[in-house]
Amino acid sequence: MRRISIFGATGSIGQNTIDLIADGDGFAVEVLTGGRNVALLAAQARRVRARLAVTAHEECRAELQDALAGSGIEVAAGTQALLEAADRPADWTMSAIVGAAGLAPGFRALAQGRTLALANKESLVTAGPLLMAEAARHNATILPVDSEHSAVFQALVGEDMAAVERVIITASGGAFRDWPLEKLASATLAQASAHPNWAMGQRITIDSASMFNKSLEIIEAREYFGISPNQIEVVIHPQSMIHALVGFCDGALMAHLGPPDMRHAIGYALNWPDRRALPVARLDLAAIGTLSFQAPDLARYPALRLARDVMATGGLAGAAFNAAKEIALDHFIVGGLSFVAMAGIVEDTLCQLSGAGVLTKLPDSLDTVLAMDHLARRTANDIVAAWQGKQG
Ligand code: NDP
Repeated sequence: MRRISIFGATGSIGQNTIDLIADGDGFAVEVLTGGRNVALLAAQARRVRARLAVTAHEECRAELQDALAGSGIEVAAGTQALLEAADRPADWTMSAIVGAAGLAPGFRALAQGRTLALANKESLVTAGPLLMAEAARHNATILPVDSEHSAVFQALVGEDMAAVERVIITASGGAFRDWPLEKLASATLAQASAHPNWAMGQRITIDSASMFNKSLEIIEAREYFGISPNQIEVVIHPQSMIHALVGFCDGALMAHLGPPDMRHAIGYALNWPDRRALPVARLDLAAIGTLSFQAPDLARYPALRLARDVMATGGLAGAAFNAAKEIALDHFIVGGLSFVAMAGIVEDTLCQLSGAGVLTKLPDSLDTVLAMDHLARRTANDIVAAWQGKQG
């Protein structure tokens, strides 16, 4: 019986993970965590007979206790409870909290010396070297769940990294791929939240439209696979059927194809190192007919340029980049910032912190990373306030 914990169970990745394990034999669920969606968390905990359900928010504790009364399922609440839940024994832990909030629980789960299925890309962007070192220290395995990184991982099975020339990550181009550039300034939240191919959480969907998601993925690929930035390419592939390609020194390109359905990457990580049947659609290539590709336009997607700057800077730049991006996104979601202004806020935050000489410091502990996360959030908020002041 494998013991499973899911952090971020109520989100898009979490729900897909629950669907894959709920009807499967051989899984015992130790921990499920959620945020404010307490009703769903309680229903999930009852469905998979979890031992412990945790909401990240102290003020949601009573509601969760009421919802699970009589079930025999333990209840906990708050940030500290989330961390302690990561200490519970689990053979396989899904890290699917959105944002930098997912870093500490995933980091702590590695001490179990088991498998961490990593959907939370922010962990590698903010603290890649620390996370990989922690995994090595505990002899734990990190498996990528981001579809592009799962694709690369699968293309690399049995290969020698020394023979890898490049990794090509595909991007759908998001909701505004075909919009005239001048129209982007008027993009609404609803328009940015509608992904052409993938059904995902709202934040990552908006990040796909701006390609901040892809910029996080470039950094994630660098950290996870240990390749240099100039070996990582991005190509727009509107059909989202090829998730990534690996180019080898003999000119071969190995592509990973599949339907745009996260249950494939989650299921691969769940069954690794084996493959088992998964309830995902099978591609009918003749029906698809054409797969197309185009180079991304950096004027439309400034986030891609910023990701290159972040990798060149190294140190704590990834933590600052992600935090500033999260703040800009928060403001866009509540209507305080336009879609196109987000990249400017992130760039100005990086410039200010770079000018202060704090970005190149090595991320030598989780505390250093979290301190930079807080500083970058404060800085980005100040920059947004100044920007809003100028707009009148
Ligand atoms: P969702 O927004 O759908 O879900 C996020 C989860 O995190 C929910 O369970 C939410 O709880 C919880 N949560 C939110 N804020 C906090 C917090 N401060 N502390 C603790 N828990 C919190 O996100 P996704 O499932 O879309 O994405 C999860 C992660 O996976 C992200 O890092 C994303 O980049 C990555 N990813 C997602 C993909 C996808 O297809 N969705 C694809 C590849 C990667 P609640 O809803 O109850 O408030």
